[in-house]
Amino acid sequence: MSYVNYKGLVIKEINTGEADKIITVLTAEEGKISIAAKNARRAKSSLGAGSQLFAYSDYMLFKGKELYNMSSCQVIEPNYEIRNDIEKLIYCSHILELILDNVQEGEPSEEILQLLLNTLYVISKTNRPLNLVTRVFELRLMSLLGYEPHVISCVNCGKAQDENMYFDFDSSGLICKKCLNPRSRSFLLLPGTVKALKYIMCISPQKLFNFSLSQESIKELGEISKRYIKEHIGKEYRKLDYLKQLKLDG
Ligand SMILES: [Zn+2]
Repeated sequence: MSYVNYKGLVIKEINTGEADKIITVLTAEEGKISIAAKNARRAKSSLGAGSQLFAYSDYMLFKGKELYNMSSCQVIEPNYEIRNDIEKLIYCSHILELILDNVQEGEPSEEILQLLLNTLYVISKTNRPLNLVTRVFELRLMSLLGYEPHVISCVNCGKAQDENMYFDFDSSGLICKKCLNPRSRSFLLLPGTVKALKYIMCISPQKLFNFSLSQESIKELGEISKRYIKEHIGKEYRKLDYLKQLKLDG
């Protein structure tokens, strides 16, 4: 039997049989993988903690016919704060849905795993605004998936400025007032939003969440991100609608 040793984060869990689970884990080496965790739902199971949604663990696995089987696991970060806070849980469920839909099986995903770990760390351990953290995650993920918008300068003339810039969905990037086609699908951005877009696309992963932003700019980022995801991925993500039902900020 051949064993592999992977670190990964649980992005989906399904109960099977009497006390078993099948989990989907995001790994650097193979992207999404499916793992059967036998008896993981029994109270004394040593596989229980590492089979919980959002847990990041070091797994010892052996390959079965269709799935990996979990032999042992060592939890590195349980991220239990997320499961204990309804607002954090809703944002993180949305984040996991984006990962589940857009990361393939068998495709190395080191940068996406790092982005996910950083994002969940900020959400679970800090009080940074959840809507801003989620927008940063979404836009950076789009970039890692190969849909990076052009935000350094005007896509047409190359002029770099923060004032009087529009986000143009037809050209997937910023466009200045002079180059703007009035019939294109675009909208004027606040200078703070332009600065934030540049920061999100260009900064190193370690500093990704180290900035603050006005509520107006966070709202603009949200409008861009939602529409940009819909255009490029072709799906409207609705989990954050629950926030409105709970009268929490979307
Ligand atoms: Zn221009």
